[in-house]
Amino acid sequence: MYPSRFRYEAPRSIDEAVALLQEGGGEAKVLAGGQSLVPLLKLRFASPELLVDINDLPGLDYHKVDPDGTIRIGALCRHADLERSALLPAKQPTMAAAAPLVADPIVRNRGTLVGSLCHADPQGDWASVVTALGGHVVAQGANGRRRIPMREFVSGPFQNTLAFDEIAIEAVIPAPKGMPAGGYLKLERRVGDFATVGTAVALELSGAVFSRAGIALTGVGGSTIDAAEAAQALVGSPLTAETIANAAALAARAAQPRTDHRGSAEYKRHIVRTFVQRILTRVAQPNGKAA
Ligand SMILES: Cc1cc2nc3c(=O)[nH]c(=O)nc-3n(C[C@H](O)[C@H](O)[C@H](O)COP(=O)(O)OP(=O)(O)OC[C@H]3O[C@@H](n4cnc5c(N)ncnc54)[C@H](O)[C@@H]3O)c2cc1C
Repeated sequence: MYPSRFRYEAPRSIDEAVALLQEGGGEAKVLAGGQSLVPLLKLRFASPELLVDINDLPGLDYHKVDPDGTIRIGALCRHADLERSALLPAKQPTMAAAAPLVADPIVRNRGTLVGSLCHADPQGDWASVVTALGGHVVAQGANGRRRIPMREFVSGPFQNTLAFDEIAIEAVIPAPKGMPAGGYLKLERRVGDFATVGTAVALELSGAVFSRAGIALTGVGGSTIDAAEAAQALVGSPLTAETIANAAALAARAAQPRTDHRGSAEYKRHIVRTFVQRILTRVAQPNGKAA
């Protein structure tokens, strides 16, 4: 199917892009990597009157680490940039683990992390990772910039809390207060598929205990699930077989899976428990065998 007719603009500055969104009055859409929006246009699930292509905006294709350890991912940083990143393996293990698991190489070459957050697909991998890391999105509109914590950014399936005339400029991961540890595991029916289940675990180790923990779940609810109770159970204690089993059970309890063609609800809950246990066991015994 062909998309409905739309006007196409490719602004050269953020101010110009915001002005175009205002002109569109809620009938305009931002186009970033196009890997989610273009299929929606072709299926006519989305029929915006105006497409504001942000690919010509200068200086948004970065991912970088500030001197204090804060990580910033610009709106035009592609999944592939993060997959090949020289920074992430040492600075942010949860992001480094997730990057190669998002979609397939063709999609990763164009799709963006920020676009994935904006798309708010319950099966989007990055929303879980950024939620587990306690990150936020920086949005720019006519009245300047504001920070939106990731936990408030997704308001439901395929819905975010951006105003119609705001552009998400970057995603920000706060500087860790301890040594970062964690990972991302994803069950997919075949390579490149969306998650049947994904689990993001992000930890900060201070001495022998964890000063911060985040756990978030992909594909097992109507939107990304912040398994805060499971994460909180890890804070202030060392990783033992008991604390690992407890956190994994709490994460499984936080999941809200539905039985579908990808598996039963019970099976998906079991995978959440197994994945959380596996990531935490690897953190506890980096050279040992995972559960
Ligand atoms: C075959 C296939 C397999 C895929 N598999 C996976 C997968 O396994 N895991 C996964 O997480 N994703 C998967 N995706 C989705 C992919 O990751 C997309 O790249 C991503 O969801 C959207 O990023 P994008 O830059 O392409 O955004 P676009 O498609 O350009 O935009 C998506 C939505 O976000 C809005 N938007 C984008 N950027 C901004 C911005 N800066 N400010 C405001 N609004 C914005 C757009 O208006 C639109 O509504 C898959 C896609 C395909 C086609």
